[in-house]
Amino acid sequence: MNQTSHEIRNVWAVGRNYGAHAKEMGSDLPSKPMIFLKAGSTVTFESDVTLYRGSADIHHEIEIALRFGKKPDANGLLEFDRVALALDLTARDLQTELKKESHPWTLAKSFRESCPMSAALEISNPPPRFEFELVVNGERRQRGDTKNMLFNFEELRVYVLAAFPVVPGDWLLTGTPEGVGPLKPGDHATAALKSATGQTLSSAWRFR
Ligand code: MG
Repeated sequence: MNQTSHEIRNVWAVGRNYGAHAKEMGSDLPSKPMIFLKAGSTVTFESDVTLYRGSADIHHEIEIALRFGKKPDANGLLEFDRVALALDLTARDLQTELKKESHPWTLAKSFRESCPMSAALEISNPPPRFEFELVVNGERRQRGDTKNMLFNFEELRVYVLAAFPVVPGDWLLTGTPEGVGPLKPGDHATAALKSATGQTLSSAWRFR
């Protein structure tokens, strides 16, 4: 099933799921998954991405994205059926202000075109381990390995399904490794993943 961005209802996202990224943000490690929501309509499958002009400091956060499929496991909980690469674009300047005020992050995380995504690969459940990276203007900025996640895929799946009204076709962004940084109009980026089972996937974006 290929989705269009209009068919995606929810993008559940995990914050601070890699210790080194939590540290670079000056944040404590969470004792349970820290979940926020990006509207499903923030997803774009286009390779040209227009950066939100309401922020002067939009950061890239490359993440492994998993899709909730239609099939439940033996406990009636939806299994993952696809993997993709996603950019959890974040207006860091706005997020810093919102954090200071103890306000929700919606403005910093759920602006228009804030979730560029690659094509998706079929996966079995539980998903295998992935290594992934993001290169911006020819320079490697982020490199991740899902073995370093604080909460693994299975813990996240069970936690999110227990707490939220997940529907088939929703996506889960599983957190970003360290190395987040700014994107400017004119930048180009490529992302790639490799699974422990030998699958590979890549994507390229140009920012305006
Ligand atoms: Mg993120």
